[in-house]
Amino acid sequence: MVLQYRLDVVCDDCGDVHEMSMHFMLAEGPPAAGTLEALFSDGELPPQVELFAGTPVACPRTERVYVPEDRARILLVPQEGSRY
Ligand SMILES: [Zn+2]
Repeated sequence: MVLQYRLDVVCDDCGDVHEMSMHFMLAEGPPAAGTLEALFSDGELPPQVELFAGTPVACPRTERVYVPEDRARILLVPQEGSRY
């Protein structure tokens, strides 16, 4: 089963969860949301996740732009109703 996912990040600056803008498909991805650290405990990320997890995030409150580095603060979230 292929699901569409997005990445959320727990903000370094304000502590809120921000939705990263990009969505992508993953085959054999997890059925429920979790942190990258928990979901990929062997440290191997699927290529799409690796790519998007390295994309800068802009905090809407402080307007700081940064690349999230802590995998315990990046969430992989399946999109509802996106089964293909
Ligand atoms: Zn923020």
